[in-house]
Amino acid sequence: MQSSTLELMQQMGHEQVVFCQDPHTGLNAIIAIHNTTLGPSLGGTRLWNYNTHEEALIDALRLSRGMTYKSAISGLNLGGGKAVLIGDAAKLKSEPYWRRYGKFVNSLNGKYITAEDVNTSKGDMEYIGMETKFVTGKPEYSGGSGDPSPVTAYGVYMGMKASAKKAFGSDSLTGKKVLVQGAGNVGQYLMGYLVAEEAKVYTCDINESKLKQVVTLYPKIEVVDSSTIFDMDFDIYAPCALGATVNTESINKMKCPVIAGGANNQLADENVHGPMLVEKGILYAPDFLVNAGGIINISIEIDGYNKERAMNTVAKIYDRTLQIFDIAEKEKIHTQLAAMRMAEKRLSDIAHLRVGI
Ligand code: NAD
Repeated sequence: MQSSTLELMQQMGHEQVVFCQDPHTGLNAIIAIHNTTLGPSLGGTRLWNYNTHEEALIDALRLSRGMTYKSAISGLNLGGGKAVLIGDAAKLKSEPYWRRYGKFVNSLNGKYITAEDVNTSKGDMEYIGMETKFVTGKPEYSGGSGDPSPVTAYGVYMGMKASAKKAFGSDSLTGKKVLVQGAGNVGQYLMGYLVAEEAKVYTCDINESKLKQVVTLYPKIEVVDSSTIFDMDFDIYAPCALGATVNTESINKMKCPVIAGGANNQLADENVHGPMLVEKGILYAPDFLVNAGGIINISIEIDGYNKERAMNTVAKIYDRTLQIFDIAEKEKIHTQLAAMRMAEKRLSDIAHLRVGI
Protein backbone atom coordinates (compact mmCIF):
# COMPACT_ATOMS: atom_id res chain seq x y z
CA MET A 1 0.00 0.00 0.00
CA GLN A 2 1.28 3.48 -0.87
CA SER A 3 1.94 5.89 2.01
CA SER A 4 -0.34 8.91 2.33
CA THR A 5 1.08 12.43 2.22
CA LEU A 6 0.76 12.73 5.99
CA GLU A 7 2.55 9.42 6.53
CA LEU A 8 5.39 10.53 4.25
CA MET A 9 5.60 13.81 6.18
CA GLN A 10 5.77 11.89 9.46
CA GLN A 11 8.48 9.56 8.12
CA MET A 12 10.64 12.43 6.85
CA GLY A 13 9.83 14.92 9.62
CA HIS A 14 8.05 17.62 7.61
CA GLU A 15 6.18 20.42 9.38
CA GLN A 16 3.82 21.46 6.61
CA VAL A 17 3.05 20.76 2.96
CA VAL A 18 0.90 23.16 0.96
CA PHE A 19 -0.85 22.26 -2.31
CA CYS A 20 -1.82 25.13 -4.61
CA GLN A 21 -3.70 25.15 -7.92
CA ASP A 22 -5.09 27.81 -10.21
CA PRO A 23 -6.93 26.79 -13.40
CA HIS A 24 -6.65 30.25 -14.94
CA THR A 25 -2.83 30.21 -15.15
CA GLY A 26 -2.35 26.41 -15.12
CA LEU A 27 -0.41 26.60 -11.86
CA ASN A 28 -0.09 23.35 -9.88
CA ALA A 29 2.34 23.69 -6.98
CA ILE A 30 3.52 21.82 -3.91
CA ILE A 31 5.36 23.84 -1.27
CA ALA A 32 7.11 21.61 1.27
CA ILE A 33 8.28 23.11 4.56
CA HIS A 34 10.53 20.61 6.28
CA ASN A 35 11.86 22.34 9.37
CA THR A 36 11.85 25.93 10.67
CA THR A 37 13.85 25.42 13.89
CA LEU A 38 16.69 27.65 12.68
CA GLY A 39 14.60 30.21 10.80
CA PRO A 40 12.22 30.59 7.86
CA SER A 41 12.40 27.73 5.37
CA LEU A 42 14.30 28.67 2.22
CA GLY A 43 14.70 26.71 -0.98
CA GLY A 44 14.24 27.12 -4.70
CA THR A 45 11.23 26.62 -6.92
CA ARG A 46 11.62 23.78 -9.43
CA LEU A 47 9.37 23.64 -12.52
CA TRP A 48 9.35 20.12 -13.95
CA ASN A 49 7.10 17.96 -16.06
CA TYR A 50 6.67 15.18 -13.50
CA ASN A 51 5.03 11.96 -14.67
CA THR A 52 2.80 11.74 -11.60
CA HIS A 53 1.75 13.95 -8.70
CA GLU A 54 3.32 11.42 -6.35
CA GLU A 55 6.70 11.82 -8.06
CA ALA A 56 6.42 15.60 -7.63
CA LEU A 57 5.50 15.24 -3.97
CA ILE A 58 8.45 12.92 -3.23
CA ASP A 59 10.80 15.34 -4.99
CA ALA A 60 9.48 18.26 -2.92
CA LEU A 61 9.80 16.26 0.30
CA ARG A 62 13.33 15.02 -0.42
CA LEU A 63 14.62 18.36 -1.65
CA SER A 64 13.15 20.37 1.25
CA ARG A 65 14.66 17.96 3.78
CA GLY A 66 18.01 18.35 2.02
CA MET A 67 17.72 22.13 2.44
CA THR A 68 17.29 21.76 6.21
CA TYR A 69 20.57 19.82 6.37
CA LYS A 70 22.34 22.18 3.98
CA SER A 71 21.51 25.33 5.94
CA ALA A 72 22.08 23.70 9.32
CA ILE A 73 25.57 22.41 8.50
CA SER A 74 26.49 25.74 6.89
CA GLY A 75 25.75 27.64 10.11
CA LEU A 76 22.84 29.57 8.56
CA ASN A 77 19.77 30.67 10.47
CA LEU A 78 17.44 29.25 7.87
CA GLY A 79 15.14 26.26 7.74
CA GLY A 80 14.54 23.85 4.88
CA GLY A 81 11.87 24.28 2.23
CA LYS A 82 11.34 23.69 -1.46
CA ALA A 83 8.58 24.17 -4.01
CA VAL A 84 7.86 22.10 -7.08
CA LEU A 85 5.61 23.30 -9.88
CA ILE A 86 4.16 20.61 -12.11
CA GLY A 87 4.04 21.00 -15.89
CA ASP A 88 5.82 21.95 -19.08
CA ALA A 89 7.96 25.07 -18.54
CA ALA A 90 7.75 26.07 -22.22
CA LYS A 91 3.94 26.16 -22.09
CA LEU A 92 3.36 27.55 -18.58
CA LYS A 93 5.78 30.39 -17.93
CA SER A 94 4.08 33.80 -18.06
CA GLU A 95 3.75 36.91 -15.91
CA PRO A 96 0.34 35.89 -14.46
CA TYR A 97 1.61 32.36 -13.74
CA TRP A 98 4.53 33.65 -11.66
CA ARG A 99 2.50 36.35 -9.95
CA ARG A 100 -0.20 33.82 -8.98
CA TYR A 101 2.52 31.62 -7.52
CA GLY A 102 3.97 34.70 -5.76
CA LYS A 103 0.58 35.28 -4.10
CA PHE A 104 0.58 31.72 -2.76
CA VAL A 105 4.13 32.17 -1.41
CA ASN A 106 3.03 35.44 0.18
CA SER A 107 0.10 33.75 1.91
CA LEU A 108 2.61 31.77 4.00
CA ASN A 109 3.74 35.04 5.60
CA GLY A 110 7.46 34.35 5.36
CA LYS A 111 7.47 30.79 6.63
CA TYR A 112 8.73 29.87 3.15
CA ILE A 113 11.12 32.05 1.12
CA THR A 114 11.66 31.07 -2.48
CA ALA A 115 14.58 31.24 -4.94
CA GLU A 116 15.65 29.91 -8.35
CA ASP A 117 16.02 26.24 -9.19
CA VAL A 118 15.69 24.01 -12.26
CA ASN A 119 13.71 25.82 -15.03
CA THR A 120 13.27 29.04 -13.04
CA SER A 121 15.21 32.22 -13.71
CA LYS A 122 16.08 35.58 -12.19
CA GLY A 123 13.37 37.13 -14.40
CA ASP A 124 10.77 34.72 -12.96
CA MET A 125 11.89 35.77 -9.46
CA GLU A 126 11.21 39.38 -10.44
CA TYR A 127 7.59 38.52 -11.32
CA ILE A 128 7.19 36.58 -8.06
CA GLY A 129 8.66 39.62 -6.29
CA MET A 130 5.74 41.76 -7.57
CA GLU A 131 3.44 39.79 -5.24
CA THR A 132 5.68 38.92 -2.28
CA LYS A 133 8.80 40.10 -0.51
CA PHE A 134 9.60 36.48 0.38
CA VAL A 135 11.73 35.85 -2.70
CA THR A 136 15.52 35.81 -3.18
CA GLY A 137 17.88 35.33 -6.11
CA LYS A 138 16.58 38.47 -7.82
CA PRO A 139 18.89 40.16 -10.36
CA GLU A 140 21.78 42.24 -9.03
CA TYR A 141 20.29 45.45 -10.51
CA SER A 142 17.25 45.01 -8.26
CA GLY A 143 19.29 44.48 -5.10
CA GLY A 144 19.51 40.69 -5.36
CA SER A 145 22.48 38.34 -5.33
CA GLY A 146 21.95 37.23 -8.95
CA ASP A 147 22.85 33.80 -10.28
CA PRO A 148 23.95 31.51 -7.38
CA SER A 149 25.77 29.03 -9.69
CA PRO A 150 29.24 30.65 -9.67
CA VAL A 151 29.18 30.77 -5.88
CA THR A 152 27.95 27.17 -5.67
CA ALA A 153 30.79 26.13 -7.99
CA TYR A 154 33.33 27.92 -5.79
CA GLY A 155 32.09 25.98 -2.76
CA VAL A 156 32.29 22.69 -4.67
CA TYR A 157 35.83 23.59 -5.70
CA MET A 158 36.72 24.23 -2.02
CA GLY A 159 35.18 20.88 -1.02
CA MET A 160 37.05 19.14 -3.84
CA LYS A 161 40.37 20.61 -2.74
CA ALA A 162 39.74 19.48 0.85
CA SER A 163 38.89 16.00 -0.50
CA ALA A 164 42.15 15.92 -2.47
CA LYS A 165 44.05 16.84 0.68
CA LYS A 166 42.50 13.96 2.55
CA ALA A 167 42.83 11.41 -0.26
CA PHE A 168 46.14 12.39 -1.87
CA GLY A 169 47.92 14.30 0.93
CA SER A 170 47.87 17.64 -0.95
CA ASP A 171 45.03 19.92 -1.97
CA SER A 172 46.64 20.76 -5.29
CA LEU A 173 44.50 19.70 -8.24
CA THR A 174 47.23 20.35 -10.78
CA GLY A 175 47.49 17.32 -13.07
CA LYS A 176 44.59 15.54 -11.37
CA LYS A 177 42.12 13.87 -13.74
CA VAL A 178 38.67 15.27 -12.93
CA LEU A 179 35.43 14.23 -14.62
CA VAL A 180 32.70 16.87 -14.41
CA GLN A 181 29.38 15.19 -15.25
CA GLY A 182 27.02 17.93 -16.49
CA ALA A 183 28.29 21.02 -18.28
CA GLY A 184 25.46 23.27 -17.04
CA ASN A 185 25.68 26.33 -14.82
CA VAL A 186 27.56 24.83 -11.87
CA GLY A 187 29.63 22.44 -14.02
CA GLN A 188 30.90 25.21 -16.29
CA TYR A 189 31.97 27.50 -13.46
CA LEU A 190 33.60 24.57 -11.67
CA MET A 191 35.54 23.69 -14.82
CA GLY A 192 36.78 27.29 -14.92
CA TYR A 193 38.42 26.84 -11.50
CA LEU A 194 39.84 23.44 -12.46
CA VAL A 195 41.32 24.65 -15.75
CA ALA A 196 42.89 27.63 -13.93
CA GLU A 197 44.60 25.16 -11.59
CA GLU A 198 45.74 23.03 -14.52
CA ALA A 199 43.76 19.93 -13.65
CA LYS A 200 43.15 17.51 -16.53
CA VAL A 201 39.42 18.07 -17.04
CA TYR A 202 36.95 15.73 -18.76
CA THR A 203 33.26 16.44 -19.17
CA CYS A 204 30.07 14.91 -20.51
CA ASP A 205 26.54 16.18 -21.04
CA ILE A 206 23.44 14.96 -22.84
CA ASN A 207 23.00 18.45 -24.28
CA GLU A 208 25.39 19.02 -27.21
CA SER A 209 25.09 22.80 -27.04
CA LYS A 210 26.44 22.83 -23.47
CA LEU A 211 29.46 20.81 -24.58
CA LYS A 212 30.12 23.22 -27.43
CA GLN A 213 29.99 26.15 -24.98
CA VAL A 214 32.53 24.51 -22.68
CA VAL A 215 34.97 23.53 -25.39
CA THR A 216 34.81 27.07 -26.80
CA LEU A 217 35.51 28.51 -23.36
CA TYR A 218 38.19 25.95 -22.43
CA PRO A 219 39.66 24.20 -25.48
CA LYS A 220 41.82 21.87 -23.36
CA ILE A 221 38.79 20.14 -21.85
CA GLU A 222 38.11 16.68 -23.26
CA VAL A 223 34.53 15.59 -23.95
CA VAL A 224 33.69 11.96 -23.10
CA ASP A 225 30.63 9.79 -23.69
CA SER A 226 28.04 10.04 -20.85
CA SER A 227 27.16 6.37 -21.07
CA THR A 228 30.69 5.03 -20.47
CA ILE A 229 32.10 7.36 -17.83
CA PHE A 230 32.33 4.71 -15.12
CA ASP A 231 34.44 2.48 -17.37
CA MET A 232 37.13 5.18 -17.33
CA ASP A 233 39.91 6.04 -14.86
CA PHE A 234 39.69 9.37 -13.02
CA ASP A 235 41.10 10.77 -9.77
CA ILE A 236 37.92 12.70 -9.00
CA TYR A 237 34.32 12.27 -10.13
CA ALA A 238 32.27 15.50 -9.86
CA PRO A 239 28.52 14.86 -10.33
CA CYS A 240 27.04 18.19 -11.51
CA ALA A 241 23.94 16.97 -13.37
CA LEU A 242 21.06 15.16 -11.69
CA GLY A 243 20.79 13.18 -8.43
CA ALA A 244 21.15 9.44 -7.66
CA THR A 245 24.15 8.92 -9.97
CA VAL A 246 25.99 7.23 -7.10
CA ASN A 247 24.16 3.91 -6.97
CA THR A 248 24.94 0.20 -6.75
CA GLU A 249 25.60 -0.13 -10.47
CA SER A 250 27.88 2.91 -10.76
CA ILE A 251 29.79 2.20 -7.51
CA ASN A 252 30.52 -1.34 -8.70
CA LYS A 253 32.20 0.12 -11.79
CA MET A 254 33.86 3.20 -10.27
CA LYS A 255 37.64 3.42 -10.24
CA CYS A 256 38.02 6.96 -8.84
CA PRO A 257 39.26 7.48 -5.25
CA VAL A 258 37.19 10.68 -4.72
CA ILE A 259 33.64 11.93 -5.39
CA ALA A 260 33.06 15.67 -4.95
CA GLY A 261 30.43 17.51 -6.97
CA GLY A 262 27.54 19.96 -6.99
CA ALA A 263 24.45 17.82 -7.71
CA ASN A 264 21.79 17.41 -5.02
CA ASN A 265 20.94 13.96 -3.61
CA GLN A 266 23.91 12.21 -5.27
CA LEU A 267 23.54 8.98 -3.27
CA ALA A 268 20.56 6.98 -4.53
CA ASP A 269 20.11 5.63 -0.99
CA GLU A 270 22.40 7.10 1.68
CA ASN A 271 21.98 4.09 3.99
CA VAL A 272 23.11 1.67 1.29
CA HIS A 273 25.54 3.68 -0.82
CA GLY A 274 27.27 5.64 1.97
CA PRO A 275 28.66 2.42 3.55
CA MET A 276 29.28 0.89 0.11
CA LEU A 277 31.61 3.76 -0.79
CA VAL A 278 33.55 3.30 2.48
CA GLU A 279 33.95 -0.40 1.73
CA LYS A 280 35.28 0.39 -1.72
CA GLY A 281 37.71 3.01 -0.33
CA ILE A 282 36.08 5.91 -2.20
CA LEU A 283 36.11 9.24 -0.33
CA TYR A 284 32.74 11.00 -0.69
CA ALA A 285 32.37 14.75 -0.05
CA PRO A 286 28.77 15.06 1.24
CA ASP A 287 26.68 16.85 -1.42
CA PHE A 288 24.68 19.13 0.88
CA LEU A 289 27.89 20.28 2.54
CA VAL A 290 29.93 21.13 -0.56
CA ASN A 291 27.11 22.49 -2.74
CA ALA A 292 25.88 24.96 -0.09
CA GLY A 293 27.49 27.98 -1.79
CA GLY A 294 24.21 28.98 -3.44
CA ILE A 295 22.18 29.03 -0.24
CA ILE A 296 24.99 30.80 1.62
CA ASN A 297 24.98 33.46 -1.12
CA ILE A 298 21.21 33.85 -0.85
CA SER A 299 21.31 34.05 2.96
CA ILE A 300 23.59 37.05 2.60
CA GLU A 301 21.09 38.66 0.21
CA ILE A 302 18.53 38.63 3.04
CA ASP A 303 20.84 40.82 5.20
CA GLY A 304 21.90 43.10 2.31
CA TYR A 305 24.11 41.53 -0.34
CA ASN A 306 27.91 41.73 -0.21
CA LYS A 307 29.86 39.55 -2.66
CA GLU A 308 33.12 39.51 -0.66
CA ARG A 309 31.31 38.38 2.46
CA ALA A 310 29.57 35.67 0.45
CA MET A 311 32.81 34.28 -1.02
CA ASN A 312 34.61 34.36 2.36
CA THR A 313 31.75 32.48 4.00
CA VAL A 314 31.68 29.90 1.19
CA ALA A 315 35.44 29.34 1.49
CA LYS A 316 34.78 27.84 4.95
CA ILE A 317 33.43 24.75 3.16
CA TYR A 318 37.09 23.67 2.86
CA ASP A 319 37.65 23.37 6.63
CA ARG A 320 34.18 21.95 7.27
CA THR A 321 34.75 19.18 4.72
CA LEU A 322 38.04 18.20 6.37
CA GLN A 323 36.30 18.25 9.76
CA ILE A 324 33.61 15.86 8.49
CA PHE A 325 36.23 13.49 7.05
CA ASP A 326 37.98 13.40 10.45
CA ILE A 327 34.75 12.74 12.35
CA ALA A 328 33.77 9.97 9.91
CA GLU A 329 37.17 8.32 10.32
CA LYS A 330 37.17 8.56 14.13
CA GLU A 331 33.60 7.33 14.51
CA LYS A 332 33.96 4.72 11.75
CA ILE A 333 30.89 5.96 9.91
CA HIS A 334 30.35 7.07 6.32
CA THR A 335 30.89 10.74 5.50
CA GLN A 336 27.25 11.49 4.60
CA LEU A 337 26.16 10.20 8.00
CA ALA A 338 28.85 12.26 9.75
CA ALA A 339 27.58 15.38 7.95
CA MET A 340 23.95 14.57 8.75
CA ARG A 341 24.77 14.10 12.43
CA MET A 342 26.60 17.42 12.56
CA ALA A 343 23.58 19.18 11.01
CA GLU A 344 21.16 17.38 13.36
CA LYS A 345 23.25 18.33 16.39
CA ARG A 346 23.07 22.02 15.46
CA LEU A 347 19.29 21.74 14.99
CA SER A 348 18.90 20.07 18.36
CA ASP A 349 21.24 22.52 20.17
CA ILE A 350 19.44 25.57 18.81
CA ALA A 351 16.01 24.05 19.51
CA HIS A 352 17.04 23.61 23.16
CA LEU A 353 18.44 27.13 23.28
CA ARG A 354 15.00 28.48 22.47
CA VAL A 355 13.36 26.70 25.37
CA GLY A 356 13.02 28.88 28.48
CA ILE A 357 14.31 32.44 28.86
P1 NAD B 1 21.87 22.95 -15.12
O1 NAD B 1 20.53 22.52 -15.55
O2 NAD B 1 22.40 24.28 -15.58
O3 NAD B 1 22.98 21.86 -15.52
C1 NAD B 1 22.79 20.48 -15.45
C2 NAD B 1 23.38 19.88 -16.71
O4 NAD B 1 23.39 18.46 -16.58
C3 NAD B 1 22.61 20.21 -17.98
O5 NAD B 1 23.48 20.78 -18.94
C4 NAD B 1 22.05 18.84 -18.43
O6 NAD B 1 21.95 18.73 -19.84
C5 NAD B 1 23.08 17.92 -17.84
N1 NAD B 1 22.63 16.52 -17.69
C6 NAD B 1 21.41 16.05 -17.37
N2 NAD B 1 21.42 14.71 -17.33
C7 NAD B 1 22.69 14.32 -17.64
C8 NAD B 1 23.33 13.07 -17.78
N3 NAD B 1 22.68 11.92 -17.57
N4 NAD B 1 24.65 13.04 -18.10
C9 NAD B 1 25.32 14.18 -18.33
N5 NAD B 1 24.76 15.41 -18.21
C10 NAD B 1 23.47 15.47 -17.89
O7 NAD B 1 21.84 22.89 -13.52
P2 NAD B 1 22.88 23.52 -12.49
O8 NAD B 1 22.30 24.77 -11.94
O9 NAD B 1 24.25 23.53 -13.07
O10 NAD B 1 22.81 22.43 -11.32
C11 NAD B 1 23.47 21.19 -11.44
C12 NAD B 1 23.20 20.35 -10.20
O11 NAD B 1 23.65 21.06 -9.04
C13 NAD B 1 21.70 20.05 -9.95
O12 NAD B 1 21.61 18.78 -9.34
C14 NAD B 1 21.30 21.12 -8.94
O13 NAD B 1 20.18 20.71 -8.16
C15 NAD B 1 22.57 21.22 -8.11
N6 NAD B 1 22.74 22.50 -7.42
C16 NAD B 1 22.78 23.66 -8.13
C17 NAD B 1 22.97 24.86 -7.45
C18 NAD B 1 23.07 26.16 -8.19
O14 NAD B 1 23.48 27.17 -7.59
N7 NAD B 1 22.75 26.20 -9.48
C19 NAD B 1 23.09 24.87 -6.05
C20 NAD B 1 23.08 23.64 -5.36
C21 NAD B 1 22.89 22.47 -6.05
